[in-house]
Amino acid sequence: MKQDIHPKYYEAKVKCACGHTWTVGSTVPEISTSICSSCHPFYTGTEKIVDTRGRVDKFKKRLEKSDQKKTTKTVKKPRKK
Ligand SMILES: [Zn+2]
Repeated sequence: MKQDIHPKYYEAKVKCACGHTWTVGSTVPEISTSICSSCHPFYTGTEKIVDTRGRVDKFKKRLEKSDQKKTTKTVKKPRKK
């Protein structure tokens, strides 16, 4: 290795927002993250969504509304000629 050109190597502690911690090799001593493999729905298989500003709720409500419209729609009237 060349001298004085490499950054310091740390056993960095990674902290996730869910409370899970682990270590990785890194050039910074501490890393904080908001999602990790132990809480991301892709790995957990749960349908927990990280919902900021209630956007998911809004979308679900809209979806329900459109479903109701579909079911309440009456049978097509035959066209007048
Ligand atoms: Zn996590």
